[in-house]
Amino acid sequence: MNMETSKKLFDRARVLLPGGVSSPVRAIKPYPFYTKFAKGSKIYDVDGNEHIDYCMAYGPLILGHAHPATKMAIVNQLDDGWLYGTPVEREIILAKRITEYYPSIDMVRFVNTGTEATMGAIRAARGFTGKNKIIKIEGGFHGAHDAVLVKAGSGAATTGVPDSLGIPADFTKHTLQVPFNDIDAMADVMDVYDDIAAVIMEPVMGNVGPILPEKGYLQEVRTLTKKNDIVLIFDEVITGFRLSMGGAQEHYGVMPDMTTLGKVVGGGLPIGVIGGKKDIMEHISPAGEIYQAGTFNGNPLSLTVGLVTMDILEQNNVHREINRTGDLLRAQLKEVIADLHLDYSVAGIGSMFKVFFGAEVRNYQDALRCDKIGYLGFFHRMLKSGIFLPPSQFETNFISYAHTPDDIQKTIEAYRKNLK
Ligand SMILES: *Cc1c(COP(=O)(O)O)cnc(C)c1O
Repeated sequence: MNMETSKKLFDRARVLLPGGVSSPVRAIKPYPFYTKFAKGSKIYDVDGNEHIDYCMAYGPLILGHAHPATKMAIVNQLDDGWLYGTPVEREIILAKRITEYYPSIDMVRFVNTGTEATMGAIRAARGFTGKNKIIKIEGGFHGAHDAVLVKAGSGAATTGVPDSLGIPADFTKHTLQVPFNDIDAMADVMDVYDDIAAVIMEPVMGNVGPILPEKGYLQEVRTLTKKNDIVLIFDEVITGFRLSMGGAQEHYGVMPDMTTLGKVVGGGLPIGVIGGKKDIMEHISPAGEIYQAGTFNGNPLSLTVGLVTMDILEQNNVHREINRTGDLLRAQLKEVIADLHLDYSVAGIGSMFKVFFGAEVRNYQDALRCDKIGYLGFFHRMLKSGIFLPPSQFETNFISYAHTPDDIQKTIEAYRKNLK
């Protein structure tokens, strides 16, 4: 596979951008491919290679690349301008629709990224409860701000240590971590600390590869948080509008107090949503004294694309289709792994999937035991076979509405060849 132009671009980028990229996961070794354009399920690089894309920009592109109706909505909006700094009717319409799909949400604040959404939700939970600490799940990802960039310390009820330089330990001491699918660990932490404002968690973990909650776990978290007057925040930045219109909370039938959305809800344009019950949300400024603001909040372009995406998801019953494709793909991948007698596991739900290079994964520690180096070699072999997977054992693969049966067939064949 010729990648000469990409290599040259990366050499130029390296002196201008730290690590040569604008976000760390893109720094594929020895160098990433540079994209020229993308359409449907395919992404095309500057050297003329075509790849079937399962990265899908890490989640937002549920309809595939450059969906025509979405594009028209963007073009039409451009004629009217793209940023006003004033309210627009569409923010009411989108807010209303979100509250209809998510019965746990009474009110929303539109922001621009998932990072801002979780930052705002945590602040709201702290402001509302008057408490300081939060519990997060080990390996859970909630964006790149101080409170959630935390490694577990040692010991059972662990206080967080910073996962990045530049974050004072004084900040992260308020972030406690527990393993996923372990309700006893969470109960223990709540027994030890009485200053806990919130539990923030991905109901289906998406950023260590997909890890599903075990039967009853989310319900137990709900019961425990309610009993201890702790705000339960579901970070549905990946799962919202991805597993179903109503996200993981609809799928599992567990209602949080607050929800963060992003990715799919903007249909490929930048967006984040802080959602929650009225009694919490009405403390957000200017209604209350929990401060939140942003120049690009509720910008007309992102709102428009979000609304169009929802229309298409509904009208075409997209979730039924892509979830069925996911079931089929996972079943076939399991067969491949059994045929090859590999000690690997196939994980996922709906349109999210992943082959773990290790036995079944139920939390972050299990995921860490997978063969990361082996996965990286596999990633490159798949790329040569025309399949673009996320370049890490810990990222989820996404199926879009644009993926065809032919794509899926080619994908299975490539897995078989390259796993061998
Ligand atoms: C991607 C992601 C975020 C951060 O969203 P950005 O838009 O990248 O800031 C937060 N939470 C989860 C679960 C995510 O997957």
